[in-house]
Amino acid sequence: MSLDSFARKIPKAELNLHLEGAVAAATVADLAKRNGVALPPFDSPAELYHFHDLPTFLVVYNLVCESIRTAADFQRATFEMLERCADSGARYVEFFFSPHAHLAHGVQYPTMLEGIVAGMRQAEKQYGVKSNVIPAHSRELGPEQGEVFLDMVLAHKIPEVIGIGLDYNEAPFPAAPFAKMYARAEAAGLKRTTHAGENGPASNIRDGIKLLHVNRIDHGYRVVDDPALMAECRELGIPFTCCPTATSYTPGWGDLTALDHPIRQMMDQGLHVTLHSDDPTMIPSTLAGEYLVVAEKFALSPDHVKKLALASLAATWLDDATKQAWAKEWSAEIDRLIESELP
Ligand SMILES: [Zn+2]
Repeated sequence: MSLDSFARKIPKAELNLHLEGAVAAATVADLAKRNGVALPPFDSPAELYHFHDLPTFLVVYNLVCESIRTAADFQRATFEMLERCADSGARYVEFFFSPHAHLAHGVQYPTMLEGIVAGMRQAEKQYGVKSNVIPAHSRELGPEQGEVFLDMVLAHKIPEVIGIGLDYNEAPFPAAPFAKMYARAEAAGLKRTTHAGENGPASNIRDGIKLLHVNRIDHGYRVVDDPALMAECRELGIPFTCCPTATSYTPGWGDLTALDHPIRQMMDQGLHVTLHSDDPTMIPSTLAGEYLVVAEKFALSPDHVKKLALASLAATWLDDATKQAWAKEWSAEIDRLIESELP
């Protein structure tokens, strides 16, 4: 009987989640030991995730990537991540992974896929949570490497690989140069999203929509700097996969109760906002926790929280018939939870 259990139990979709940012510290320690990867000294594995800025975050992130080597490692990381999603009430997950970070350590792309898909099947069997996967290109590697990335993805196309993403350091690496790669992905029937307007300007959001023809935008907070773009996004119904806890690390956005917090502005402006956990073991965050924190800090009504959960389903890349059927089920289930869980 609390907002906490309501936030946990409502059915929802997780759409901005990175496999390599979702490995438990104890699992990293275990895999690193098994694979002979040297980690910094620690008394307890949790200390691995004590970092204070982006450079130290990236050092740890790379060690996590280096520690995941075999198909069995990928299966374990994927299964444990989806297990936590299920515990947060996720019924469906579209998650990213970073092939280049593993290719760099000699792991072949088919090995990654084999383990990831095995973890997805295992989680669905055990918890009923369904999922698809989005290989993401590191924009830092540039558009030419992007073509190589896409060639690899298309050469090993499987139904679980539902689309492509673009991530890593946005500010120095704009979206526009990736237009050709995205056009090829579109022609090949892949869905498309890009991280944009997070630590880069609103123009990356506009270019993502106009030049990359994305189906949604990851983060996208800087849309609030450009009222015309905001109106256009509202008109088009472009989903924005927002990660509230992660924004608190962005200077100036630490206070979620601030009336000018970009996520609040985006919601007030009627944009298609959805909530997600990003790099949950590293931040740390949980999917249910993101709903709880927004419900509390923005003082949302239960109906508004319900709207957010259904917005996450609408933003998925599932087919329309599935979305419609699930929306009916989820809506009825959430109504029952509002009755039973909230005072
Ligand atoms: Zn992300």
